[in-house]
Amino acid sequence: MPGTGEFDLIGRIRARCRDRDDVLLGIGDDGAVLAPPPGEALVVAVDTLNAGIHFPEGTAPADIGHKALAVNLSDLAAMGARPLWCTLSLCLPGSDADWVDAFLDGFLALASEHELALVGGDTTRGPLSISVTVIGAVPAGEALRRDGACAGDDVWVSGCVGDAAAGLLVAQRPDAGQARDDDATLRARLDRPTPRVALGRRLRGLASAAIDVSDGLLADLGHVAAASGVAADIELAELPTSPALAATVPVPGRWTLQVSGGDDYELCLTAAPDRREALAALSRELGLELTRIGQVRDGSGVVLVDPEGRPWHSARPGHDHFAGTPG
Ligand code: ADP
Ligand code: MG
Repeated sequence: MPGTGEFDLIGRIRARCRDRDDVLLGIGDDGAVLAPPPGEALVVAVDTLNAGIHFPEGTAPADIGHKALAVNLSDLAAMGARPLWCTLSLCLPGSDADWVDAFLDGFLALASEHELALVGGDTTRGPLSISVTVIGAVPAGEALRRDGACAGDDVWVSGCVGDAAAGLLVAQRPDAGQARDDDATLRARLDRPTPRVALGRRLRGLASAAIDVSDGLLADLGHVAAASGVAADIELAELPTSPALAATVPVPGRWTLQVSGGDDYELCLTAAPDRREALAALSRELGLELTRIGQVRDGSGVVLVDPEGRPWHSARPGHDHFAGTPG
């Protein structure tokens, strides 16, 4: 493991960074100097990945780099924001230049896909942990929020749900060699989530509320319902299911993964029924499935409805880092 000092590592990061015109001063000073886009509001989000908690030990460094940024871009997507800049706080157990290079391969490829500039950060020693802050822009007053859902709205979700949770089960199996194609597909959905940035931006003016599915559909739609002061029903029969998941986990276990598993980073949104055609057209244009999975109504909480129309209870709630810990 080739060792290098903190400043060599920062130099390697800096050498690979692309700037944007609105970065007046990037990596190298005490702070970055950035020019906010005129007439727009800034959206800021931060998410941390800790080894063994947010990704399985042994995850490839390029996958960790991708995911550390993807989960943050997903938050910008859920706000309907256009990504601009990010910072990267790296806490590493040792100074391993090869690891940092591979991490940057994943991180910077995704950054460049979204024309996002890395403008600063921090590099420290300790248990492996990566914290990314992203900054995006949205026309003032147009951000997608959690508190706009109304009784009568439809509930929609992008892509498929449950794959990442199944991918985690694959990773935890003792025979985690990815012999089956379906296993590799599910594991890739865990390691390399696709932030729905283009979708989020196009949902401005269409969706009444939006959230990204990081902790599980039940928990995340629950946040929308609580913030909006409404209830929501989810039809289990309507949940969009990938062929890999359908072939790997039968119902009802599959439903548990789909409503309670996190890490899919799809967008869950609510929209008035008169938006159905516009959303179907957007889905075709983006080549991204959008599925109507339920309804918003008066009341509180989220009810799961089985194919016979009966309420169904998931064997586990959504992910909560502090569930079961004292205090
Ligand atoms: P300071 O001690 O003033 O906080 P540092 O020595 O931590 O500065 O960092 C020097 C420069 O390198 C700063 O511009 C900082 O933003 C940048 N930097 C440090 N670590 C990273 C990193 N992991 N990714 C991107 N930029 C970094
Ligand atoms: Mg510092």
